[in-house]
Amino acid sequence: MQRQYRQSLSQATSLGRNRAIGTAPMRRPGAVGAEAGTPAASLWRHAAASASVRTADPTATAHASVGSAVRTGPKAPDFRTASQTTHHVLARAEENARLNDYEQGVKTAFDSIVPTLKRISALQHEPDFESQAQAIARRELGFELPEDILADAWIDQLDMRHLYAGCTFATYHRFCDDFFTTDPLAVEDGEKNFNGGFEGFLQTCGFHTLDISPCADGRLAHLIRYVLRLPHRAVRRKSYAGALFDIENSVQKWVEVEMLRFRAGVPNTADAPTRYLKVVAYHYSSVDPEHGGCAAHGSDTAKAASAGLERLLGFQQAIENSFCCGASIDLLLIGLDTDTDAIRVHVPDGEGAMALDRYVDALELYAATARQDASRARHDIQDAVRQTSPGVAEGMARLIERLIENNFSQIAYVRDYHGDHYADIGHAERFIGAGVGFEEIQLRNLMYFAYLDTVEEAASDLDVGIRIFTELNCRRGLPVPVVVRFDYHGQVPGARERAVTRCRRVTEALQSRYRDLFGRGLLHVLQVVRDCNADAPIEILECTVNAERKAGGH
Ligand SMILES: [Zn+2]
Ligand SMILES: [Zn+2]
Repeated sequence: MQRQYRQSLSQATSLGRNRAIGTAPMRRPGAVGAEAGTPAASLWRHAAASASVRTADPTATAHASVGSAVRTGPKAPDFRTASQTTHHVLARAEENARLNDYEQGVKTAFDSIVPTLKRISALQHEPDFESQAQAIARRELGFELPEDILADAWIDQLDMRHLYAGCTFATYHRFCDDFFTTDPLAVEDGEKNFNGGFEGFLQTCGFHTLDISPCADGRLAHLIRYVLRLPHRAVRRKSYAGALFDIENSVQKWVEVEMLRFRAGVPNTADAPTRYLKVVAYHYSSVDPEHGGCAAHGSDTAKAASAGLERLLGFQQAIENSFCCGASIDLLLIGLDTDTDAIRVHVPDGEGAMALDRYVDALELYAATARQDASRARHDIQDAVRQTSPGVAEGMARLIERLIENNFSQIAYVRDYHGDHYADIGHAERFIGAGVGFEEIQLRNLMYFAYLDTVEEAASDLDVGIRIFTELNCRRGLPVPVVVRFDYHGQVPGARERAVTRCRRVTEALQSRYRDLFGRGLLHVLQVVRDCNADAPIEILECTVNAERKAGGH
């Protein structure tokens, strides 16, 4: 039954992992150019682990506190123009305000580092420099700087590279702690409990697991919680360059999920007629289609979509060929315009088959339904989904309708807070993340992600990341901050030790692959592990900012 439509895919080009960087503009809104720091023989305590992070001045301004404090802050200025249809009857304005406060709070914390260090740098020959500098750091960043670096400033110049890397890592640490202790992106209580919440809804649609693989591009990092407005804990997310997920890894996950249903009845029992749903999210740019799309597919939207569909079908075939008794999975292909955050959904037909040119465009539907009343707008979403693929399964249709309605809120979010499209349509990530984990990264353009177990297997992804950051940071004399992170399952004996070893190996491999940058103090690495089973905060291991102290500086 499900075989015929695979043919339509056979034209799909086989794609190498040649990730050329497009010429999309690279800038961070609000970031200010910094002067290059002069390397000095100064010292730096383990910044990210420093207790000063938590003893921030309680009088610190709102933006110094990541997340919690700013969520109740005033709404950002409204940039609407009369010509824009910014409001939609189905868009949730209060939720948007909450999500925007969080996003702005986190990004402002990172973007305050350079201007703050510039101010501090200008004071370095003042008589009471140390106390002035600490007062500014406490107020603007929410933590104190290491005293020894400040104390050495009179001998030479302040070591801005060390300070910048340390401040970035300290801000990341605080952002993580906030995420894992206050759960800032939790869904509303009402929504969480109504009819079993999203998991319950998913099962009524015929699915017991929602497994999404977006592209690892930082402009899709907010896909789950913002673009699709789903509870991030209820969805499995695994990002890959070009959304080309690993089939073996997914098969393994499927086996694990089915085993849990069979053995423990979680999330439902194995006899319930539900399936595992695998989703791929590719992306494109409406503003700059030639350069702003997916770098892994040469910014070619058709190529990105067909490669995603091909990978989905490969996974489905793997399950069908490996497990008898009619085992199969359901598939869904979604495209994201990273400039407006509007999605297009390739609605499957009655056989589950999708076509690259058969989709619902949420942006068009948004414009067409904005002025209607809520029930009429919902009705039009239903019609659009069913007209696209008349035989679509009822449950699949309801899930897609929900995703589209949810996406309307995100379209309104971009229009309300950013205008026709984002200002940072290109790369503007604040740091690189390498390894396995990073559940806390639910924000757009915050982190460049390289999913890996070893540096060798992700060498091309890392090279692209380093090139992006050479442009974003090194050009201004600032180092590339890399967080090496491995999550582990604490109930498995020895898992933590293996994660720690992996962190160390990856760090050493990074230092050797990019030894020129590292030697010039332009690459800094923070090593982090986390027990993802205990819902624990991150655990800080080593940091190159600290290691240089032991080695006597560079
Ligand atoms: Zn991509
Ligand atoms: Zn885990």
